[in-house]
Amino acid sequence: MTQEWDAGRLDSDLEGVAFDTLAVRAGQHRTPEGEHSDPLFFTSSYVFRTAADAAARFAGEVPGNVYSRYTNPTVRAFEERIAALEGAEQAVATSTGMSAILSTVMALCSAGDHVLVSQSVFGSTISLFEKYFKRFGVQVDYVPLVDLDGWDKAIKANTKLLFVESPSNPLAELVDIPALAEIAHAKGAMLVVDNCFSTPALQQPLKLGADIVVHSATKFIDGQGRCMGGVVAGRSEQMKEVVGFLRTAGPSLSPFNAWIFLKGLETLNLRMRAHCANAQVLAEWLEQQDGIEKVHYAGLHSHPQHELAKRQMRGFGAVVSFEVKGGKEGAWRFIDATRLISITANLGDSKTTITHPGTTSHGRLSPQEREAAGIRDSLIRVAVGLEDVADLQADLARGLAAL
Ligand SMILES: *Cc1c(COP(=O)(O)O)cnc(C)c1O
Repeated sequence: MTQEWDAGRLDSDLEGVAFDTLAVRAGQHRTPEGEHSDPLFFTSSYVFRTAADAAARFAGEVPGNVYSRYTNPTVRAFEERIAALEGAEQAVATSTGMSAILSTVMALCSAGDHVLVSQSVFGSTISLFEKYFKRFGVQVDYVPLVDLDGWDKAIKANTKLLFVESPSNPLAELVDIPALAEIAHAKGAMLVVDNCFSTPALQQPLKLGADIVVHSATKFIDGQGRCMGGVVAGRSEQMKEVVGFLRTAGPSLSPFNAWIFLKGLETLNLRMRAHCANAQVLAEWLEQQDGIEKVHYAGLHSHPQHELAKRQMRGFGAVVSFEVKGGKEGAWRFIDATRLISITANLGDSKTTITHPGTTSHGRLSPQEREAAGIRDSLIRVAVGLEDVADLQADLARGLAAL
């Protein structure tokens, strides 16, 4: 037997509830079957009762689905949940994190506009700006993440967007998001924050003054390394443009991936707390070890921006990087001596990963560019997962012994 559900029964009680409740319940949709889990709508198109109904839905006079490149109920549930968690008026899902960034810039910038990008952003993000947006007449300049004065000075009359990741990868540098938002707004520019490393469980950039948040959902939102996706969140005014680009250009999210992400979000805060707790233990332990020259983690008192991290984040994240004695050879020996931890450049997984940024994620940079970015040959990055922390420590101890 089926039953009509009062949509209000699902959402009306979410007024004023806490983050963990939103993560489990926001955006939930229920079909007349009464399923308790989120329904998965595997359909490319939708049928209409009559020709007139079709015409009204195509014209947008009557709400409803037309085609899954535009809307899909499972994808919409994911978008509504992310919007609730980020404190956004609207969110829109994309096929990958990169297409979230692509869609944001395509929607909001035109030829002749200027964008400022943090020097320490994801490698493909730099390529997207450098190789592609520049080809279409978007001017791009780069600024050191932490340098507020530098951001202020680099803004021009035609600057449309400032684009940052905070904390940065792999060195965990931060920018004061409220201060940077103020600098951008004073000159009529928007601040975009890639919040992939923190997730809304640890940092909510929109509440700190940013205008737009982008995510690679591939990382912690999935959290178990299963599938690709992304999301853009912000005010309706800007999201309308992003949605328009997505519906036309088509990097939409698969409903199956949206369903996985909905499940991922239900445990997001629990997982992030566990990731952070493991990372904190390992960072403090590494800092005490002889073979380690420096540990980069915002949760350490030795981190130059520890106080800022405490102000704008609810946890310091899962990524710990450190410099070992013995340069590149030492770093490679350390990595190769681990047995449990996976040698891979990915992150945001329940499985801990280890990588040598200088010859992988940052290998395309020239030695001078790497030096300027602070990526030493001796640097190792660990994205801490959810294994027992004593086992992770024992594995890193194998690396230390190999130095
Ligand atoms: C992985 C990543 C991206 C790109 O996301 P994809 O889902 O791989 O396209 C963008 N930004 C950051 C910070 C990332 O770590």
